Amino acid sequence: MSDHHGHHGHHHNIESTHIGIVFFLNFSFTIIEFIGGVLTNSTAIMADAVHDLGDTLSIGLAWGLSRLSQKDPNDSFTYGYHRFSLLGALINGMVLIAGSIWVLSEAIPKLIDPQMPHAVGMLWLAILGVLVNGYAAWKIIRGKTLNEKVLSWHLIEDVLGWVSVLIVSIMLMFFNWPILDPLLSITFTLFILINVFKNTSKTINLFLQSTPDKDMLEAIRNQLNTIEEVEEIHYLHLWSLDGERNVLTAHLKLNVLISYEDQKNIKQHIKKLLSQFALAHTTIELELPDEICRDKTE
Ligand SMILES: [Zn+2]
Ligand SMILES: [Zn+2]
Repeated sequence: MSDHHGHHGHHHNIESTHIGIVFFLNFSFTIIEFIGGVLTNSTAIMADAVHDLGDTLSIGLAWGLSRLSQKDPNDSFTYGYHRFSLLGALINGMVLIAGSIWVLSEAIPKLIDPQMPHAVGMLWLAILGVLVNGYAAWKIIRGKTLNEKVLSWHLIEDVLGWVSVLIVSIMLMFFNWPILDPLLSITFTLFILINVFKNTSKTINLFLQSTPDKDMLEAIRNQLNTIEEVEEIHYLHLWSLDGERNVLTAHLKLNVLISYEDQKNIKQHIKKLLSQFALAHTTIELELPDEICRDKTE
């Protein structure tokens, strides 16, 4: 269940009672699945267990980190604690990759030498899976926030995953096609890995302080260039604390000597131009025509 799409901060507005219920359901159900997967000898259920382990971690981290991220900045973390969510997302990604390798190491040999899983046990687990995930989805779907909507889609995907386990378990009761089980688990695992690589590459890019949005950077540059006193812009940096809270720094070289009043006006103007970008931190240096840039190195 739940939210790989939203590691970087889609979670801070989810109502905490909802997230609490979903976390508890996920956590207990993940344990049941791991045991059930081994007992029924079903790699499809193991793959689902790994997926739900990732969900549990992601919900738990969102829950735990939402408190940490509200802590005030201090001399050790002058930007505050928002970047810890990136660390959480990265750890979660590593856990999912390790889990996926484990599932594939169980499933791939079974393609060559299929073993019949315990179909009746699978069926019961699948019914439980549909109920638990369906309940969580129903609980969240009534939420109004964007975060809850994002989470709902994920939960619906999870329900569909269990419906496919349900269908396969019923088929296995009537047909001797044990290969369906590893095939389903490999399909699940590929979905997990595609999501992990998408999210992890985003997270790593944020860690590396890449520009979160090139179009936004271009738009900011264009806006700043519309100021008639601005001769040129250098050291324009746009990066992001956690994918949502963006940080901008820039040096603006001016083409005229300005008075104190002018400076205030230019700063007001900049404020207006940048307001549409909802930046969390901005530092803008104004350089007079006869001034040498402090940061410039030969
Ligand atoms: Zn899920
Ligand atoms: Zn400069």
